[in-house]
Amino acid sequence: MDLKFVPSICSYCGTGCGVLFEVLDGELVGTLPMKTHPVNQGKLCIKGWNLHEHINSPLRLKHPLLKTFGRFTKVDWGKAVDVTAHRLKEVIAAHGPDSVGVLVSAKMTNEENYLAQKFARAVIGTNNVDHCARL
Ligand code: SF4
Repeated sequence: MDLKFVPSICSYCGTGCGVLFEVLDGELVGTLPMKTHPVNQGKLCIKGWNLHEHINSPLRLKHPLLKTFGRFTKVDWGKAVDVTAHRLKEVIAAHGPDSVGVLVSAKMTNEENYLAQKFARAVIGTNNVDHCARL
């Protein structure tokens, strides 16, 4: 039996609590609070305690799905990006850039959130950017 504790940061919100992932024989089986982390000092909220569960969930989306006539079909990332870009161009041409909004997330890094708002403002041409903390 091979048990490891891998330090990481909780990805559920921007607080950034330190965690230790319990990895048993190569499988993630649990999450513990990091007692020496300056942010959470050995504490976690209920989301943090269950951080490992979504990784092994059978409900987890692992690839893009394209909805056509009410049915989802697995597609590769190239196809997903092409379809999304095409539909965005159609919507913007028909209704203007402010008909589009971009929602970002605390589960994304600062850099990813920055790129998303830059994409909204510089590429789409809208200031309609919001964040999951306000939903
Ligand atoms: S443990 Fe809770 S408070 Fe800490 S980062 Fe995760 S979600 Fe946020």
